[in-house]
Amino acid sequence: MFKKDTQLCIFFYFYGMVEHYFTCPYCWENISMLLDSSVSKQSYVEDCEVCCNPIQVTSEFMDTELIAFQVDSIEQ
Ligand SMILES: [Zn+2]
Repeated sequence: MFKKDTQLCIFFYFYGMVEHYFTCPYCWENISMLLDSSVSKQSYVEDCEVCCNPIQVTSEFMDTELIAFQVDSIEQ
């Protein structure tokens, strides 16, 4: 009757989240982030998974399609 948690996660992954690959502005490694395609425009800070530096991420979706994506380093 009830779906397993893993199946729920996979559903959420495919229908709400988009994995996007980009180059870290600090270490130049190719990293990926999960973006919420249900939010039309969002800007937030997330740490790089390789060098742990804070990255300013700006993404914009139109009908769940990524139309704009930008990453900036944050001056300390
Ligand atoms: Zn990095």
